[in-house]
Amino acid sequence: MKIPKVADIVGIINKIAPMALAESWDNPGLQIGDPAAEVTCVMVALDPTPAVIDSAIAASCQLLVTHHPLIFKPLKSISTATPHGALIQKAIRGGVSIVTLHTNYDIAKGGLNDLLAGKIGLSNSVPLKVTTSGELVKLVVFVPVDRLEQLRSALLPYTVTLGNYRGCSFAADGIGTFTPLDGAAPFIGAVGVPEKVNEERLELLIERALLPRAVKALLAVHPYEEPAFDIYPLLNDGEKQGLGRIGRLSEPITLAEYAARLKKVLSAPALRFVGDPTALISKVALCSGSGASLLHDAVRAGADLLVTGDVKYHEARDAEDLGLALIDAGHFPTEIIMVHEMTERLGRAVATAGYTNCRIEACRTETDPFRI
Ligand SMILES: [Zn+2]
Repeated sequence: MKIPKVADIVGIINKIAPMALAESWDNPGLQIGDPAAEVTCVMVALDPTPAVIDSAIAASCQLLVTHHPLIFKPLKSISTATPHGALIQKAIRGGVSIVTLHTNYDIAKGGLNDLLAGKIGLSNSVPLKVTTSGELVKLVVFVPVDRLEQLRSALLPYTVTLGNYRGCSFAADGIGTFTPLDGAAPFIGAVGVPEKVNEERLELLIERALLPRAVKALLAVHPYEEPAFDIYPLLNDGEKQGLGRIGRLSEPITLAEYAARLKKVLSAPALRFVGDPTALISKVALCSGSGASLLHDAVRAGADLLVTGDVKYHEARDAEDLGLALIDAGHFPTEIIMVHEMTERLGRAVATAGYTNCRIEACRTETDPFRI
């Protein structure tokens, strides 16, 4: 029986939604709890509300994963006389650790914005506002010819996918020279004897963030005591990631029809829109939650429509002035979809990691604070 600790689940979440992707003002990660505590039940929810924390305690869950942070601005005190302080105390007393996702999950490939794009019928969507271009490095390593393939297969998992091409590498042969000194235990040759070896120069393109793991893998399989390798910084852009998405509908549809369709697929009790109801929509930008700040990005990207939530009156006026249709489907309806998705994904990832005694539950008691 293998039971994960809070830190293990945080590690799994970090693979789904790397914390490094989060906006600079954001605060995702472990907010409350003991990284070393064992977890036999995880609850997934949108908001860390009192009712949600009660649900987690009632279900004997030791970890609550939410999209919105419980602790967002720096705290000056934790007084249980305030609702926020009482909530923090409730989680700690109930033995519930809290991990939050937020903009790292919005931005991540396969994250909340991609999920929303799929739900509202967009294909081939790309980030609307690029927030990171992924720093790349070139790793060059010299290896005896007969060990090339072993080293290549150890390093390929860390290489960058170029468009639709995975497993990209390059190798060229040449001659390496060295003289083992006293104390050396050379894989090839003898101490004090100058050696010439047929070697391959293997080149790979790697994301900077994955470099430490790639070098560790290199050192683990390279046959030499002192493998020769070079790391070059590059000016090439890596994979672009960012907020919001923009993509196309399979066929144009009027704004009114599309709004009605979104109301249904997002189970929204109502939604508001700006623009001519008969206008044809084909290129759609979106931002889950609260994304009216991306109005200009949507216009620049040539969108006919921006789908988001939390739209203010003057933002609606701005959209009108810019000639951009706008659908306010609500913060809750555009984000509550993460609960089911994250529950499934965590369930699969926990099983793949070999943990046998940890169940993942969706919180089913959350409701939109807005009533119609
Ligand atoms: Zn939100």
